Amino acid sequence: MTNFDNYINGEWVGSGKRTPNINPSNVADVIGHFASATSEETEVAIQAAKAALPAWQSLGIQARSDMLRKAGELILERSAELGKLLAREEGKTLPEGIGEAGRAGHIFLFFAAEVLRVGGDILPSVRPGLDAMVEREPVGVVGLITPWNFPIAIPAWKVAPALAYGNTVVLKPAELVPGCAHAIAGILDEVGLPKGVFNLVCGKGSVVGEHFVNSQDVHAISFTGSVNTGRNIAAKCAATMKKFQLEMGGKNPLVILDDADLDIAVDCAVQGAFYSTGQRCTASSRLIVTEGIYDAFLNRMIEATSGLKVGDALDSETQIGPVVDQRQLDQDLRYINIAQEEGAKLVAGGKQISGETEGFYLEPTLFAETKNSMVINQEEVFGPVATIIKVKDYTEALAVANDTDFGLSSGICTSSLKYASDFRKNAKAGMVMVNLPTAGVDYHVPFGGTKGSSYGPREQGTYAREFYTTVKTSYIRSS
Ligand code: NDP
Repeated sequence: MTNFDNYINGEWVGSGKRTPNINPSNVADVIGHFASATSEETEVAIQAAKAALPAWQSLGIQARSDMLRKAGELILERSAELGKLLAREEGKTLPEGIGEAGRAGHIFLFFAAEVLRVGGDILPSVRPGLDAMVEREPVGVVGLITPWNFPIAIPAWKVAPALAYGNTVVLKPAELVPGCAHAIAGILDEVGLPKGVFNLVCGKGSVVGEHFVNSQDVHAISFTGSVNTGRNIAAKCAATMKKFQLEMGGKNPLVILDDADLDIAVDCAVQGAFYSTGQRCTASSRLIVTEGIYDAFLNRMIEATSGLKVGDALDSETQIGPVVDQRQLDQDLRYINIAQEEGAKLVAGGKQISGETEGFYLEPTLFAETKNSMVINQEEVFGPVATIIKVKDYTEALAVANDTDFGLSSGICTSSLKYASDFRKNAKAGMVMVNLPTAGVDYHVPFGGTKGSSYGPREQGTYAREFYTTVKTSYIRSS
């Protein structure tokens, strides 16, 4: 069985402990045993990143840009292989895995160009004879903590801007999916990144992640994951006066109005709710439907949901892969029970199913006759489970859509420009989709939400600069 090491100070380094990386489509398939770092090993990585800072910053923007561009090109060249690894370790279907790997490649290419566009401002001072300059500088050593549901895209959208703006990195991927992060480390090694600039530290959140967060030598933390972990990290970052950025959960509404194109609405709802096994923070988990289209939409949704093919992520027929692991499957089943106890009507799915191999397979599940106040409509399930909420009109739909602790992505299906425009302005979310699923975003524009979904500057696109740089103002006597 293959062992996979951590990447610290430009070397592959083993660890006393290892964790198996298991294929959720087939638990007999072990992808490898990955290093599980101790606190002491994590500290070595942080010190390597700290020591590498001055040389990385003085290397110059051309060299930095060239390395990021080469990394992006290699990821794109290998997207089929990386997509397969992703499907194997996380359970996304093969096309979804390849798509995600391609996205990671494009993110590196985007930031390879951004390296050259950092810019700054020179302003006349309000005091005669002075000039004021505003420049951006790297933050320092950045600790990146990523979840299991996008094993290559999320590490890419944190690592690429961190490096682009001159920071050095310690990355801790989710313990369930270290394979793709390991592959990125291999590519960064191949493109000749100087020693210590990028360090991969696989292991437990409670060991490696906590160590990043508590360290005085890590200057900023970018985290994506659950709300509880995010809160815990925020409190600790405040205690050590670190910059931090949190991307957390969602309970995303998709509003379907009477005037919606039914085909588009069903397509958006099915894709948004069930693709990637519903394991997306942007998944459409609440389908809010006005009275006039309710029956037609419900019937079409039952038919479409029941027809989805669940199976091995690598099987070309599969539309919905497995749930990521037993713990997540238990959580999904627990919420399915809670919904039924609350009086929601199960109209499709609801059961664990067996595949050709032993894996964590769950039927895409749809509930009707739900109220927004139910637990199933307030708490994030993070699985292939969606509910339908019937409302009278647009005004009620908007109120229900916004009645949640989260605010990541919010969608509407309508042929009315008036309602689409009003929704765009009044939806309390960081991202709004019109006649599109709530999930599925571009890599060159900001990603993030409001309320309990996000904290701190946005990720991705040029907005990533706000987090990965700090601003210095200089005054110069000019006469
Ligand atoms: P977790 O919060 O459990 O884990 C996220 C990461 O944090 C993992 O790497 C985990 O390590 C690490 N971690 C766990 N405990 C600590 C700790 N005490 N200190 C520091 N790091 C820690 O979330 P999941 O990985 O289970 O991901 C699912 C959740 O993420 C969902 O709630 C989902 O909504 C959210 N999410 C949000 C996104 C967004 O952009 N808004 C995108 C994707 C997911 P370990 O490997 O040990 O678990």
